[in-house]
Amino acid sequence: MKDARDHELGMDRQITRRDFLNGVALGIGGLALSGSLGGCARHGGAESIDSQGSPGYDPPAASGMRGDNLGSYEAAHGLRDGTFWQNAGTAAHADEVYDLIVVGAGISGLATAHFFRKQAGAKARILILEAHDDFGGHAARKEFCVGNRMLLSYGAQSLESPSLYSKVSKDLLAELGVDVQKFYRYYNQSLYPSLKMGSGIFFDRETFGEDRLVAGFGKIPHAEFFGKAPLSERARRDMVRVYTEKVDYLPGLTLEQKRAVLDRTSYADFLTKIVRLSLEVLPVFQTRTHDLFGVGIDAVSALACFEEGDDYGYGYPGLDAMGLGAAGDRGEHKPDPYIFHFPDGNASVARLLVRSLIPEAIPGHTMEDVVVAQADYSRLDRQSSPVRIRLNSTAVGVRHDGDAASAKEVKVTYARKRQLFEVRGRRCVLACYNGMIPYLCPEMSTKQKEALAYGVKTPLVYSHVAIRNWMAFQKLGVHQIAAPGCYHVYAAIDFPVSMPGYKFPSGPEEPMIVFMVRTPCQPGLTEREQHRVGRVELYDTPFETFERKIRNQLARMLGSGGFDPARDIEGITVGRWAHGYAYEYNPLFDPEFAEGEAPHEVGRKPFGRIAIANSDAGATAYMNVAIDEAHRAVQELSQYQS
Ligand SMILES: Cc1cc2nc3c(=O)[nH]c(=O)nc-3n(C[C@H](O)[C@H](O)[C@H](O)COP(=O)(O)OP(=O)(O)OC[C@H]3O[C@@H](n4cnc5c(N)ncnc54)[C@H](O)[C@@H]3O)c2cc1C
Repeated sequence: MKDARDHELGMDRQITRRDFLNGVALGIGGLALSGSLGGCARHGGAESIDSQGSPGYDPPAASGMRGDNLGSYEAAHGLRDGTFWQNAGTAAHADEVYDLIVVGAGISGLATAHFFRKQAGAKARILILEAHDDFGGHAARKEFCVGNRMLLSYGAQSLESPSLYSKVSKDLLAELGVDVQKFYRYYNQSLYPSLKMGSGIFFDRETFGEDRLVAGFGKIPHAEFFGKAPLSERARRDMVRVYTEKVDYLPGLTLEQKRAVLDRTSYADFLTKIVRLSLEVLPVFQTRTHDLFGVGIDAVSALACFEEGDDYGYGYPGLDAMGLGAAGDRGEHKPDPYIFHFPDGNASVARLLVRSLIPEAIPGHTMEDVVVAQADYSRLDRQSSPVRIRLNSTAVGVRHDGDAASAKEVKVTYARKRQLFEVRGRRCVLACYNGMIPYLCPEMSTKQKEALAYGVKTPLVYSHVAIRNWMAFQKLGVHQIAAPGCYHVYAAIDFPVSMPGYKFPSGPEEPMIVFMVRTPCQPGLTEREQHRVGRVELYDTPFETFERKIRNQLARMLGSGGFDPARDIEGITVGRWAHGYAYEYNPLFDPEFAEGEAPHEVGRKPFGRIAIANSDAGATAYMNVAIDEAHRAVQELSQYQS
């Protein structure tokens, strides 16, 4: 649907909006490849690409709608809707037998292959099937080309608190050559402060009556900051009070009793019913939890806010003087700073895993050179290689060849470009979304299927926008903006990380990537219901809508700094993850499960020669959990020697 301001926003600008369907590059709305992003050699590649084996197949270079790319979910949705097998033909028998078949090439699936090789030896034959057009799962890599400069961005963002990782995860990173201590050098923590750039809040007119960006959050006194906000005097007083007064709002309760109350109280109720703030302040906080939890403060407990903390530094005020410990303290010790970020996020870890599994696919030897190494996708699935990664291939059926207790093989059927194939493995690890497994394995017990279906993954969007320069940000004194009432609730210029071979654009006149977050949800429902509603919205929203919203929002937030979306935007990628974070239990809505009886524990039990990995199997949305669950799954299958 066109808008009267489209021209002003630059909707007709020739930027790259290249989509990628089953490996075929599609130009959408603008020119495909030869537009203003031209210049980096790799980004002017072949226009028609038909598979991962073809020259020029390069998913990180695609823009437009990414994340769940077109073609990655249709077969799965057909299975869910019960329509898939009606339209499917019979599977071609690929006559391929593997020691291990892994479903899902996210961090967990790749780590599964890594652990299995350590156990079974480098000659073990492994096939990894992946529904998306790239490997890495959420840890996807994105590349923009502005002028002659390549800028990287990411799906999964950073290694969060690596000092808390298990020995298994720490050892894996060490084996891949990742030394997290180096990020203390690579991440320039003083860049933005040295340029007098900090945090701002954008108050939008639809929510707060007028558009106003207020800069200096956490730098200038709260009274001055909120004095500039378009809020009533009472709301301003309330904001200053909750950020500054040091009050134990639950006096007389023991620590245990306080934790119990805060565990069952949403942060919204905590603010209004316990701290007694006016309802008018709620919109300032409503979406603060979106990035980490995928729902607003109506659906996140005050204790979870306290324990998880806020990576971006806006905080959850009111909880600091309650004797709960230090904010963001998960009870073990203070988490690390949020600096463990490769320029392409956790995609570098995925790429290091692929490099160790198929060395010829990604050249180089170090955690530094992997950042700029060009992957050769044509080498991922070669018969001569013991490990093969097959993209654009959705597993649709996983069954034992006979009775699960005695079968010697598992038959895996997958769909690729509307064709079905069957391969066989002596073992199989399902490192895919656990909620899909009941559709893949009809033989499983109802109890296990129900348990696997319990968690609802969080839908979320990481949009990335390449801009010509970041002078408007500097002029306005912000490198990050919370936008509580906007379509994208947070926007920030990139993490200032330079590594040998990759230099961060540290001058405001240089091109930059802006990161924006949206998590669709519907306050008032349970968390799982909110995720379901959000997911439907995501699949129903075309790229054009995202683009218009992005242009409009950046214009409104940054216009007074001289930003012009029609002139300054060079490329947009929408990282749509309809099945994003693993579901983590929510004390506001989920019962307390007895140990060993939580749905993820019941659901992940091995089933004959099939074991289950993925971060879903740990009910925790972090990379280390994806790795730990892979390790467990491989251990569970170790009894099968042949
Ligand atoms: C936007 C975003 C940002 C994140 N940021 C961070 C972060 O900063 N730090 C952090 O630690 N974690 C982060 N996470 C959490 C992230 O989920 C985990 O860190 C980790 O990457 C999950 O890996 P996984 O392999 O378990 O799952 P996934 O990455 O989801 O991989 C599973 C793969 O299985 C594939 N698959 C599913 N079904 C099938 C099928 N039937 N056939 C074939 N393939 C199938 C999927 O396509 C997918 O590629 C983020 C997640 C998202 C969505």
